[in-house]
Amino acid sequence: MKEPQPISAEFFCVSCRTPFLNPFPLDSEGRCGLCRSGLRGFDAAYCYGSYEGALRELIHLYKYGRVRTLAKPLGDLLAAALPREERFDAITAVPLHWRREWQRGFNQSELLARTMAARYGIPVVPALRRVRATKTQAGLSNTRRHQNVATAFECRRGAHALAAKRILLIDDVMTTGATAAACARALKRAGAAKVALLTVARVDRRMEGWRGASAPSTEGVNRDVE
Ligand SMILES: [Zn+2]
Repeated sequence: MKEPQPISAEFFCVSCRTPFLNPFPLDSEGRCGLCRSGLRGFDAAYCYGSYEGALRELIHLYKYGRVRTLAKPLGDLLAAALPREERFDAITAVPLHWRREWQRGFNQSELLARTMAARYGIPVVPALRRVRATKTQAGLSNTRRHQNVATAFECRRGAHALAAKRILLIDDVMTTGATAAACARALKRAGAAKVALLTVARVDRRMEGWRGASAPSTEGVNRDVE
């Protein structure tokens, strides 16, 4: 297997770091349309690489092959993607619907969150809860995806411990960012001062042929379904 490579782009949104082929989707401050319209909810997004090739194989092995020990090397990639100057008070993971977690036997994002917590000496807070299973996101536009998951998450009771806290939100793969945005908004409603998203890989829509539903259709690409 080849070494996973970090993502590189000439043009990307300053806020969510979505890569673009040209500067036209970005406004004068360098923000993409979704960030401009406030649909994101998180304050920053960091990611190691594109969801393809060796990195994609690694994530599949971890998530679907259930090779849990891969949480450590994947955690190393997460750490490499996080700017050194960033500081957080707590780490939390994007939750799975309980049925999905029961089927898989673990929540891949939570295990990554625990790896990061051990590395940085910051507590993991199980702040979020998925209150409903969401319809499949495949074939939905960006806006529809955001609407689909908008009310899928809430903060657990007791999550008021989040008040004024800087939260690092962990997920394995970012597709459109709709799931992370819904989580970030739930954390903000519970009083979080700042939410930064950290993912191992993101679906790079610059890749030719990425057309939503007709995308290389794998479980991973439809990650937001979870
Ligand atoms: Zn953006």
